[in-house]
Amino acid sequence: MDYESFFKSQIAGLKREGRYRVFADLERRVGEFPVASFHPEEGPPKDVTVWCSNDYLGMGQHPVVIGSMVDSLHKCGAGAGGTRNISGTNHYHVLLEKELADLHGQEAALLFTSGYISNEATLSTLPRLLPNCVVFSDALNHNSMIEGIRHSGAEKHIFRHNDVEHLDALLSRYPKNQPKLVAFESVYSMDGDIAPIKELCDVADKHGAMTYLDEVHAVGMYGQRGAGVAEREGVMDRLTVIEGTLGKAFGVMGGYITGSTALVDCVRSFAPSFIFTTSLAPVLAAGALASVMFLKEHNEIRIRHQERAATLKRRLIQAGLPVMQSASHIVPLLVGDPVMCKQASDDLLNIHNIYVQPINYPTVPRGTERLRLTPTPYHDDRKMDALVEALLSVWKNLELKRAA
Ligand SMILES: *Cc1c(COP(=O)(O)O)cnc(C)c1O
Repeated sequence: MDYESFFKSQIAGLKREGRYRVFADLERRVGEFPVASFHPEEGPPKDVTVWCSNDYLGMGQHPVVIGSMVDSLHKCGAGAGGTRNISGTNHYHVLLEKELADLHGQEAALLFTSGYISNEATLSTLPRLLPNCVVFSDALNHNSMIEGIRHSGAEKHIFRHNDVEHLDALLSRYPKNQPKLVAFESVYSMDGDIAPIKELCDVADKHGAMTYLDEVHAVGMYGQRGAGVAEREGVMDRLTVIEGTLGKAFGVMGGYITGSTALVDCVRSFAPSFIFTTSLAPVLAAGALASVMFLKEHNEIRIRHQERAATLKRRLIQAGLPVMQSASHIVPLLVGDPVMCKQASDDLLNIHNIYVQPINYPTVPRGTERLRLTPTPYHDDRKMDALVEALLSVWKNLELKRAA
């Protein structure tokens, strides 16, 4: 076997389809968010405005977060020094888990090294422990949930995206006393639409199913204290498990679940990807703790964030650009072709100093390739003027489709 030419041919295939991923080499600069230095492959670095960051509220550069991280770095050092079980439980982990349980109104919380691992660990472990558990998964669930469910080995059904009646029909095929788990997200990150959480919980309850909600794209941003869409809609107590990340709106890194003491204890005790890995660095836990506590008290940041997203949508629609319907802070612009999507992104970066990563298959279905804009409280009117002008120029040059 000629391994090298095999690997090269795999990559050539991606390039032919126009969906080979090129990472933008960025250097974020504290205090200038959302502006960062971009390092091109050749030539000197230049300033660009980042329009696709998941640091949705700029907390990754917030003085409160940085201050807490610097303090804890000098107090506790660099790494945790072990797995949670073997010397790696730092006091900041304990404080942060208490804070997160309180945020979501649940009895307990458990930290993981990422949101991805929190989904994978929990969704592979709970259905594996429960005898004959059947899992019901939304069609647009994130890869981390899909992989977790797959690793559990449990029987699985996929219900049509946000389709309560379809879920009801699938659940009806099983006796009420058979263990079941319904897994879904609140804000779907690529379309920006929001799940009917209450209705999904009603159906799950009717059939005796547990509910698992991924609030990764909502924590910090929705609800009076930033606990997510379930808080905003007053249904936090309806969910069996609420999962979140510390890496997006909280601006740091790590993931977590919250739920009952017994359930969380089971994941803590039985999930290999929780047990057999070095715990989160204390600095990350300290930074996340500061961020969660700060955002609990600062609803005005969420109000400003929503205002910015609404303003951007309005401006793009007024300009005749093909904004996709979105009920959240996520603003997708349809391009509909992978090569054109990449070209539009390249032109924005190279000509207009605007960075928006192209989103192509398999992250979104073929034919729905898009630019996914994420305005933050720091994207002011001037930055929006520059964006709209640049988009209009790129749309014209590349003869891309305008709004219908
Ligand atoms: C990003 C993402 C995750 C993973 O979270 P990380 O902390 O980045 O690992 C999980 N679920 C959804 C829906 C996501 O978009």
